[in-house]
Amino acid sequence: MSDVQESQNTSASSSSVPAHISSTNVLPFLDISPDALVIVNQAGAIVMVNGQTEAVFGYPREELQGQQLEMLLPQHFHKVHTTHRDHYFSNPRTRPMGIGLQLVGQRKDGAEFPVEISLSPLLLDGVLHVVGAIRDVTEQRVAERERLQQLQYIRLQTELINLARDAILVRDPASRVISWNQGAEELYGWTAQEAQGRITHFLLKTHFPVSRSTVVAHLEQEGYWEGELTHTRKDGSSVIVESRQVLFRDEEEHPAAILEIDRDITQRRQLEQTERVVHAETTARLSFLQQVLDALPSGVYIVYGPDARLMLANRAAISVWGAEWQADQPMLEFLTTNGIVLFDEQGHPLAPDQYATLRAVQRGETVLQKQELIHRPGGSSLPLLVNAVPLPSQRRSSAPLQETEQQGSTREAIALIVHQDVTALKEAEYLKDEFLGIVAHELRTPLAALKGFADMLLVQTARKRGQALSAWQQEALQEIELATSRLVDLTEELLDLTRLQAGRLLLQRTPTNMIPLVQRIATMLQLTTTWHQLEVRTTHSSLVANIDPGRIEQVLTNLIGNAIKYSPQGGTVTITVLEETAARAIGISVQDSGIGIPKHQHALIFGRFMRADNALAWGISGTGLGLYICRELVEQLGGHLWFESEEGAGSTFFLTLPIIDHPENNEQDHPAIRLPPTDG
Ligand code: ADP
Repeated sequence: MSDVQESQNTSASSSSVPAHISSTNVLPFLDISPDALVIVNQAGAIVMVNGQTEAVFGYPREELQGQQLEMLLPQHFHKVHTTHRDHYFSNPRTRPMGIGLQLVGQRKDGAEFPVEISLSPLLLDGVLHVVGAIRDVTEQRVAERERLQQLQYIRLQTELINLARDAILVRDPASRVISWNQGAEELYGWTAQEAQGRITHFLLKTHFPVSRSTVVAHLEQEGYWEGELTHTRKDGSSVIVESRQVLFRDEEEHPAAILEIDRDITQRRQLEQTERVVHAETTARLSFLQQVLDALPSGVYIVYGPDARLMLANRAAISVWGAEWQADQPMLEFLTTNGIVLFDEQGHPLAPDQYATLRAVQRGETVLQKQELIHRPGGSSLPLLVNAVPLPSQRRSSAPLQETEQQGSTREAIALIVHQDVTALKEAEYLKDEFLGIVAHELRTPLAALKGFADMLLVQTARKRGQALSAWQQEALQEIELATSRLVDLTEELLDLTRLQAGRLLLQRTPTNMIPLVQRIATMLQLTTTWHQLEVRTTHSSLVANIDPGRIEQVLTNLIGNAIKYSPQGGTVTITVLEETAARAIGISVQDSGIGIPKHQHALIFGRFMRADNALAWGISGTGLGLYICRELVEQLGGHLWFESEEGAGSTFFLTLPIIDHPENNEQDHPAIRLPPTDG
């Protein structure tokens, strides 16, 4: 025993000295221990166990005594444990066993359980033994695992809290920061460490929407508070947050902590502010625009979409229409509900596709200075000059003049319409026409006398009645006759014009065979020129139209006369007459190879007093009234008049007149008649 003691002392100077106990008095001591105590000899045999060992391992003491200690371990530890035991006996001392190792015991029923073991050398009856104190740590391990899980859970929660972009903080009832997430660090610039323990409303210089005590009282009474706060960041800048605060109470219902979640809405508030400013500016501009529009004497309105819905109108527009056009109402609906009818300048009702407004939105046409007459609800009429201009199409949402890309908006045609009341102009025009009419009428009789006497002088002199005239006298008389003829034509045209303007031109319709009529006019006009060759082309000997023959003669004389007049170099004038079966019309064309009409004046040439630049440049005389009167006459007889022309290459005027069924209508063999040029 002493050897052992010695070797103990020499080999492990720091280890405890084995206790000297005799086997007879050791047992009562062993049973005091809360641990299972197992005394093992150097051969590894169990010498003695206490009552706790029986309870922990489930063996009665007798079954254990004399058995190898390894029976209390799972099979796979047996071998390694034997080595450990031998090693221990070579250097016995008091020490915990296998620190950091997962030690496992095995009960009699085979169940394994975690243990903690501490070993002490013991001289039992003078022989070196070892006492193993074994503690079943199943419960500690479970508790440990639970604690670890909880820790894990808390860590996860912290990570989640940090993941949130919002500032999340917990403060105690005195408002001192207990917890401060990453979002709070980023939002306020204070680190968690810096914020810890600081009073939040001092740290953040909080500006409350109501007094702080009201917020605190609300929190205490309701358990929560929500509202907008303005904080100051560490760098001194302001931040507006949407704050939600919840009060937590302890078991005694005393306030324990406040969880506060702050969301940065600075940018949102700034945007809202900018939006408010922009909105206010837009509204101010719109109302200014409306004031400007309202100050205009002309009716101005803007329409959108193919059915011309009203977007905006000024005050004058209401008085022009004599009714209020509701916003977004389609034009036709507005006109029909208010009994408004539109007429052209001659007083013919306009078809909707002829309305300047609809032409602008439906076909993108720019319509300038178009005359329209409005028949208004009360029965009054108003002559107008209409300008309709398509504007660049706009993306429209449901609300007028607001553009929102997000909403299902589409690009729609938009047009600006200006209505100019021309009542005063019309009155002046009426007076002018009246005056022209009176002048022309008054000129007619003296001119007839002048022309009659000039003719008489010429004829009687030719018949050698009275004194013979000298050559210059003869020439002067011829000039007088020519000039009075022109004056007579002019007064006739002026009278026609005033009659047309006043709607007083009466037409005498009678079935008329156009073929001989055309031929007669061509023959007559051929007599006036040697430079030109007039050619009538037709396959018919008879084509009958119900027309006023005098007026159609006037039209054809004008067209063929123009073809001769505007071909100063001479050439062929081809007059073609044919039947346009599909259109139930007689088609007449007059083609020349003269000076033509410049392209830019094509649209204007049927206007009153309109003359092309090149005609003036050539010094060809004219009034610019003929074509206007021709078109009016032809259209009143149910036909159409138009032309094709290229400057320098010639013109072709086309005329159609509705054909009537007549037994004389037929075709003949010789298609072209060439009229002999006169000798002058
Ligand atoms: P006027 O011949 O008296 O001037 P019109 O009304 O008959 O008046 O014609 C109007 C204008 O149209 C003419 O001044 C002329 O510029 C142009 N015009 C008419 N017919 C022709 C033609 N066949 N060739 C070239 N220009 C023509």
